[in-house]
Amino acid sequence: MKTLYAACLMAAAPAFAQPGGPVPQQSQPGTQWTEQQIREAVAPVRAGRKLTPKSWPNHARVAVCLSFDDDTEAPLLRDGTTSPTTLSASEFGALSGTARILAMLERQQIPATFFVTGVDALLHPEMLAAILKSGRHEVGVHGWIHEFPPRLGEGEEERLLDKAIDYLTKATGKRPLGYRAPSWAFSPHTLDLIRKKGFLYDSSLQAMDEPYEIMSNGQATGVVELAIDWTLTETPYLGQNGRMPSPELLFQLYREEFDGAYHEGTLFVLTLHPYVSGHRAPMQHLNALVAYMKSKPGVWFATGTQIAQYLKETNPAK
Ligand SMILES: [Zn+2]
Repeated sequence: MKTLYAACLMAAAPAFAQPGGPVPQQSQPGTQWTEQQIREAVAPVRAGRKLTPKSWPNHARVAVCLSFDDDTEAPLLRDGTTSPTTLSASEFGALSGTARILAMLERQQIPATFFVTGVDALLHPEMLAAILKSGRHEVGVHGWIHEFPPRLGEGEEERLLDKAIDYLTKATGKRPLGYRAPSWAFSPHTLDLIRKKGFLYDSSLQAMDEPYEIMSNGQATGVVELAIDWTLTETPYLGQNGRMPSPELLFQLYREEFDGAYHEGTLFVLTLHPYVSGHRAPMQHLNALVAYMKSKPGVWFATGTQIAQYLKETNPAK
């Protein structure tokens, strides 16, 4: 799972100069920018109005979106990795990991959203069928082969996104309404493509810990953002270079974040990866967290699409 984590997320890591080495001349271009250039740099994708409703369905106090980035071999294949051992380790997410998570969701009778790449869906039809079996869960788009959008040209990003949408639409019988960028990384073109392809919501950005509408160059886009966060996922802690010896502390953090969302009456989005959290030890803590959330009154477990649709209804376009 560590190798997969490397392929999956390290592409997002910026290149830093070595400590003590020469500092590249172009390493701090922002130091030369004018105020206008600084404003233009942040304008294409900005947080707009908050969308937290006055009340959630059935007077629930909080909405909970359990989301899973169900990456298997796609990030490795993207980089041309064909080592059978490495690939076999990545199958864990499809086989043991997803199965264990689906069994937990079935016991608890709650929905979840699975963001899947086209290639992982293609390689694991049994995984997709298992996700779809209950009719309760949502499948969202997570790229074609876990491509890293900032390194693609506009046409190439669209070509791969179209392939992913087409494949997942055929495989699930339903056009996906939710998008989560591979490695959570937007290119300068990603937001335009999300709008062009008619997605209801995105779940890749992190500007607030409550839902909001994405703005682009001062204009409201109508795209709902179900924001995520690097602390509300497990790969930096339990994956490669993970700094946490036990999942216990991490799931304590999740529980306290949920308590805060419950208190504020907003939204709690958790993002886990079956190839990491589907292992036995984290599953014990995930089971306990879900049981805890279920024990509280007024918790609405919903898919990303159910939440985004409700937010659209309660926040009509201005
Ligand atoms: Zn991913």
